[in-house]
Amino acid sequence: MKKIYPKIIIVLALFGFGLNLFSQTERKVATEKFSGSLKKISSNWFIKTDDDFFQLELASEDYLLDFMIVLENEKKIEIKGVLAEDVITVHALKLQEKYIPLRDKQGNPLWEENFELPTYSIETQKCVGCRLCPSICPTGAISMQNGVAVIDQEKCISCGICQNGDGDEYQGCPVKAISSQ
Ligand code: SF4
Ligand code: SF4
Repeated sequence: MKKIYPKIIIVLALFGFGLNLFSQTERKVATEKFSGSLKKISSNWFIKTDDDFFQLELASEDYLLDFMIVLENEKKIEIKGVLAEDVITVHALKLQEKYIPLRDKQGNPLWEENFELPTYSIETQKCVGCRLCPSICPTGAISMQNGVAVIDQEKCISCGICQNGDGDEYQGCPVKAISSQ
């Protein structure tokens, strides 16, 4: 029976080591903010920050154009992404003071082939008229009508910010009145 104890201690030590490794891995994939100017070299885009230079893994330029985002040399840019080995995998890009998500919360690109943009709508019975979503929508697609928020589908670019938040202070509709299909 006594011989079991050292084995238990070894198993617990390995478990603790594994947990420690796991938490370090979690820390490594944290999303960070970067700002700087764009630079195109060959077919790749880079960002020059105050003190560094990183390659960008972005959405295709066609996809970005759908969001009215045009990439140009020397253009100032603010992004959120995950840095690994001098390459930033871009998760969101700032446009007109708002972040446009380019990846879902798991980091999967939203521009996968056959990816269909969802349609966002607001349940008027649930909306409490707080006016948060109209102020955060990057295209001005949400307006207040009779005290509740309404989405103009012609202007909506399905960025999802109104429902999911902008990754900053706005955490999404506080009463979950916005949904997507
Ligand atoms: S955030 Fe939600 S509750 Fe507030 S205006 Fe928009 S839909 Fe209505
Ligand atoms: S998904 Fe919401 S925030 Fe994005 S464009 Fe459409 S209405 Fe505006």
